[in-house]
Amino acid sequence: MTKKKSNGSGVDHGLMRELNRSLVLDVIKARSPISRPDIAKTTQLTKPTVSGIVNDLMKRGLVRRVGMGATTTGGGRPPLLLEFNKRSEFLVGVQIGVERSTVVVADALGTEIGRTSVDNPKGEPAAALKSLAKTAMTLVEESGASKRRVSAAGICLPGLVEMRTGKCLLAPNLGWKDVPVADVFSEAFGVPTFVVNNADAAVVVESTEGAAKGARNVVLLHVGSGVGAGILSDGKLLHGAEGFAGEIGHCHIPGLTRQCNCGRTGCLETETDGAAIARAAQEKGLTGTRGGQLTAEDVARAAAEGDPVAQDVLASAGRVLGVAASWLINLFDPEILLVGGGVAAAGPSFLEPLKQQALAMTLPHLAERVEVRPWAEGIDAVVRGAILVAMQKSESYFRVIFQE
Ligand SMILES: [Zn+2]
Repeated sequence: MTKKKSNGSGVDHGLMRELNRSLVLDVIKARSPISRPDIAKTTQLTKPTVSGIVNDLMKRGLVRRVGMGATTTGGGRPPLLLEFNKRSEFLVGVQIGVERSTVVVADALGTEIGRTSVDNPKGEPAAALKSLAKTAMTLVEESGASKRRVSAAGICLPGLVEMRTGKCLLAPNLGWKDVPVADVFSEAFGVPTFVVNNADAAVVVESTEGAAKGARNVVLLHVGSGVGAGILSDGKLLHGAEGFAGEIGHCHIPGLTRQCNCGRTGCLETETDGAAIARAAQEKGLTGTRGGQLTAEDVARAAAEGDPVAQDVLASAGRVLGVAASWLINLFDPEILLVGGGVAAAGPSFLEPLKQQALAMTLPHLAERVEVRPWAEGIDAVVRGAILVAMQKSESYFRVIFQE
C-alpha cells in the first residue's frame, strides 16, 4: 500500500492528483483534438498542472499529438493539439448465456472492434470460464488488438452476483453455485475482471446510452431465460446486502404451483420466462421451426405475424408480468420502467397487456407519471453491459454506478 501524503490540511494529495488526472483525461476523451490551454480553461486547473498531467499521459501512450491549433490572437506560437489514443488500451466483454456465450473486444472508448459467439463450453464452471478466456484471447488477436494492452474484462451472467468479489453465488439456469467467476477468469486471462448480473448490466447500458438515457431512477424488467430486474436508484445500481436485489422472478405469485429451478414453487418466472412461454404455446399446438423444439423467439415471431395462439400466450404472460411490474413501480418509483430481454421483441401483443396491467395496479399518482416501454432496439444491452462493467477499471463514472 502506498503511503498517503498529507499537508496537515486534510487534503490527500495522492487522491487530488488522481482526480485531476481523471478530469483531464475525460476532457481530452470528450473534446479531442484539444490544446493544453483549452484543457486548462475547461478544467479550471492551472497550466503547469495540466502540462504535468498531459506529459505523463503522453509518456504512457494514452494521449498523443495530432497537429497544431490556430495561431493565437497575440501572434504567439500555435498550440499543439492533443487527442486521446483510443488504441492505448482494450477491453474484453463476455456475456454468458444459458446455451451460448458472446465475447466482444472494445477499444479504450468502449467501441466494439470484434465479436464472436460460441456454444457454452462443457464441463465444470471453472473449465468453461478458462475456455472462454482462451476464446477471448484469440478474438483479441483477430481484432488487431494487443493482448498486452487489454486492461480489464467484464462478464455478464444470468444469476446472483456478489459484485464486490465477482463471485456468482447462484445461477440456477446455468447450474452454477458459488463460482469465483472473476478470480478464475482474471487468472486465466491475466487482467482484473468485473462480474455483473444481466439485468443490472442492461439497466446501466439503457440509462447511459439507451431507452432511458439520462434518467437516474430506472427499473429494467428482463424477460429471457428467467426473469429479473435491474434497478437504478438515484443513478446507482441497487445491490442489496449480497447483490440479490431485483430477483423479482423468484417472487411467489399466489395460485402458481410449478416447481422453479431455485427450489421453490410458484415463482413468477415459472409461468413467464422464455421457456414458460414456449411451453405454453407448444401445449396450445404451436410448432417450432427448429426440429419441432419451439422457442420463445418462435412464439414472438408468430405473434408479430398475427398468429392468434401466439398472441394469446404472450398476452397471458404479459399480464402476469404486469402485476410484477406494478410492484416494482410502487416499490422503487422509477421515472421509466423498461421491458427487455428476448421476449420484449414480441412487440405490442406482449407489451401492451403488460403495460395496461402494470398501470392498472400501480398507485394512481405513480401510474400517471411513470413511462413503461421496451428497451432500446439495436443495442445489445447485456453484451454492451459487459464492456461498460469492464470500463469501471479506468472510468470513475462507471465505478460509481456499478459499485457504490
Ligand atoms: Zn424461483
